Amino acid sequence: MQHRLNIGIVGGSIAGCSAAILLSRAGHHVRVFERSASDLVGRGGGIATSGPVLESLMQEDIIDRDFPHSAATGMPLVIRKPGFEYLGYSPWTMSLNLMAFHWSALWKNLRKRVPDSSFFKGRKVTDAIQHADQRVTLCFEDAPDETFDLVLFADGYQSLGRRLMFPGSEPKYCGYMLWRGLLPEFEMLQSAPLGSNMPRMSYTSATGNLVVYFVPNENGSVRQGERICNWAAYITCSVADLPDFMVDRFGVQHTGTIPPGCMRPEEEARLKKLMRENLPEYYADIIDRTEDTYVQLIYTARLPSYYKGHMCLIGDAGMVAQPFTGSGIFKGYNNVKDLVAALDTQPTVAEALRQWSNAQLRIGRRLLALGEQMEQAFIWNPLPLADATAASTEAWWKAAVTFPEEYDFSVDEK
Ligand SMILES: Cc1cc2nc3c(=O)[nH]c(=O)nc-3n(C[C@H](O)[C@H](O)[C@H](O)COP(=O)(O)OP(=O)(O)OC[C@H]3O[C@@H](n4cnc5c(N)ncnc54)[C@H](O)[C@@H]3O)c2cc1C
Repeated sequence: MQHRLNIGIVGGSIAGCSAAILLSRAGHHVRVFERSASDLVGRGGGIATSGPVLESLMQEDIIDRDFPHSAATGMPLVIRKPGFEYLGYSPWTMSLNLMAFHWSALWKNLRKRVPDSSFFKGRKVTDAIQHADQRVTLCFEDAPDETFDLVLFADGYQSLGRRLMFPGSEPKYCGYMLWRGLLPEFEMLQSAPLGSNMPRMSYTSATGNLVVYFVPNENGSVRQGERICNWAAYITCSVADLPDFMVDRFGVQHTGTIPPGCMRPEEEARLKKLMRENLPEYYADIIDRTEDTYVQLIYTARLPSYYKGHMCLIGDAGMVAQPFTGSGIFKGYNNVKDLVAALDTQPTVAEALRQWSNAQLRIGRRLLALGEQMEQAFIWNPLPLADATAASTEAWWKAAVTFPEEYDFSVDEK
């Protein structure tokens, strides 16, 4: 049975825009409310997803056929050791089929498919009230309330919706951050060693690792010399040290991210020194040359359900797994694709939401299990690479990341 609903979407980032596209194509009436008054460009970095996922998004006209991306075909595991100071020693390269692109380019591609008449910038949602007839009223900071048949919270990992629906299910800090930067290719000493690889580097004497790859530039160019080198360093930071670390150069205390150009110079210098001490020189040099670096703390979030009444969670507002899984960027899109199918096939909205939520819980738990295995392998319990061979590294990887068969993902179906 087909339901045609009046749907409010909180958050106009990747999940919110994907939801607006899919739901309006399915015949629903949607309105997206994004708290940011300006476009969400210029703040993102590089991001990667699997080749087949990007291909299917193009085929479904979620993104343009010529959406700019660069292919990453191998992940050499690398460490610096005597005799291998410049590029490092790599016992083994994992094959990859990943497509890397610029976050801002993805957002612009999705956003242009959402009509301006459905997208409201500068509209911060402050509360949501569930009525007895199941309709939901959204309250705004600076605008009159609006009432909907269904509300989707696509408001990110610090979701207001998650807090309202399931008090106590706060995201859990994983004990490490991503320190990130973007360096134009023409500012690198040489670009050839990186090529189409996405090397992952262990540190010689610290916990964590670094990943580096090329993405197209802001204009979509993937021509040699015009690309952008995107790097992301996983670095541990204790809960006790976080409050001090998250104060920016203007004295502002941040919670989840420090935006580009706002880190305190002494903290940026400390981390650059740490990388110089721990990485092969070629990669330390890329980091040294990068300006306006930025920070994202890494959290995971679990949920008892993806819905309550007629309020749902999608994207990072739902379950959040560690970023190694590469699942984050299109999670919201997949959540909504399943929701559209459930609304089209189930006799009532209540039954559609129940079945949809149970399926999303199963997927979320699998991703968290994968994320935990990869976190162990890459952060807390890595292979000592300096003494490893190709055979021992490949065997270690296959034993360390066994996803997904060994887990029991059974759900308390509601
Ligand atoms: C500007 C920006 C840049 C990013 N860059 C990267 C990147 O380079 N690499 C990467 O891996 N991930 C990046 N992310 C995060 C990435 O988008 C998410 O991890 C993932 O794609 C899931 O997206 P999401 O839409 O669920 O959540 P998010 O992308 O976190 O979006 C949540 C949205 O909800 C809005 N919002 C929150 N609360 C309210 C409220 N009360 N009322 C109205 N709106 C609200 C926020 O302003 C935001 O636009 C970025 C996010 C943003 C917002």
